[in-house]
Amino acid sequence: MSKKSLSEISCQDDYDPNSMPVSQARDFIRDYLTPITETETLPLKLVLGRILAGDIVSPCNVPNHNNSAMDGYAFHSHDAAANSLEIIGTAFAGKPFDGVVKTGECVRIMTGAVIPSGTDTVVMQERVLTENNRISMTEVPKPGANVRLAGEDLKQGETVLPQGRSLRPSDIGLIASLGIGEVTVYRKLRVAFFSTGDELISIGQPLQEGQVYDSNRYTLHSMLSKVNLDILDMGVVPDDPQRLEQALIDASRQADVVITSGGVSVGEADFMKLLLEKLGQVVFWKIAMKPGRPLAYGKVGNAHYFGLPGNPVSVMVTFYQFVRDALLYIMGQQNLQPQPLLQVICTEDIRKLPGRTEFQRGILYTDEKGTWRVRPTGNQGSGILRSMSEANCFIVLDDDTGNLPAGTKVQVQVMEGIL
Ligand code: AMP
Ligand code: MG
Repeated sequence: MSKKSLSEISCQDDYDPNSMPVSQARDFIRDYLTPITETETLPLKLVLGRILAGDIVSPCNVPNHNNSAMDGYAFHSHDAAANSLEIIGTAFAGKPFDGVVKTGECVRIMTGAVIPSGTDTVVMQERVLTENNRISMTEVPKPGANVRLAGEDLKQGETVLPQGRSLRPSDIGLIASLGIGEVTVYRKLRVAFFSTGDELISIGQPLQEGQVYDSNRYTLHSMLSKVNLDILDMGVVPDDPQRLEQALIDASRQADVVITSGGVSVGEADFMKLLLEKLGQVVFWKIAMKPGRPLAYGKVGNAHYFGLPGNPVSVMVTFYQFVRDALLYIMGQQNLQPQPLLQVICTEDIRKLPGRTEFQRGILYTDEKGTWRVRPTGNQGSGILRSMSEANCFIVLDDDTGNLPAGTKVQVQVMEGIL
């Protein structure tokens, strides 16, 4: 089935740009995104956080031989009842015992050493008494105990990691354990961004009355840096249609994705709307959420476009709720899971109006009994960036929820891992 066009999206019966539920906006965006297809092949040390462009299939068994999981003694399980066994040699990791172990005999064995032929079981060294080069077991292990079987971690021909996987440190190690030194990943995404607003000035200039330092550019730069992509910082652009048009054209020519902050709220949106209609196809939503109500989304030239609100907290919340996953999807990541929501008792009253989803900033902490609790940070205004710095979680309050008394269970989204 072909993708809905943005104009079709805006014409759907249940589309109400003035109160778009968060999940619906997310679905619309997802429908419209296309993952990149170009790839590059890189050494293993350079692919952390990159997305696999093909399956990794195991060329061998890991481990490739049966080996000991313990320091101890290898023997055959049919000798389990013997009073004592003679030690006839030692097997080290990387230096196997090359004889054959017969009935009544055992071999001293180190962790990771190949299980000697004629044996099938390892008894831990802590479970034996040794005397005159013989062992007697104080506790007899089950047949096959303490032996790691060939292929038990990975079997030859098995798909170890699927295409679309975002590579984590354990994945890199896993690939190395197969002897593979290079992998093919999708190319890096190029993301351009700029801030809009006549009141904004850059760091290094003195602040005049009515001006604010452009902090969003730094927040956005930092949030983008946590996703593995190429960033183009295009600075501050004043609320001037010609300058904005030029900036949007430049950005869309150089990048796969263009992000702006500011300029999409009521009033300002009017000329941004005309501009974006001219340069591409963009829809404007008032999302039923707080913070982060206005959001624009669409295409400028060939680039995906996200118009985020200007308020510093709104920028962060809309980035995390909409943009981050969209970027990962365009980067080729598959099986994207929503951030987990935990249920935690909130120890203070919560003020909220029904009819919109709120992402209040919260502090998760342990009480004197060691139980996890949450409390909101103070002022929840969308301009209070300090609330994001103090918080370690979002308290996610559904549309239907109103004021809540202290002691109510709330949903919490931990920031660690996304921030
Ligand atoms: P806007 O969405 O452009 O109407 O901006 C909403 C509020 O966010 C205004 O108070 C702006 O001054 C503020 N704001 C917009 N952009 C930035 C920025 N880049 N850095 C800091 N504050 C901003
Ligand atoms: Mg503005």
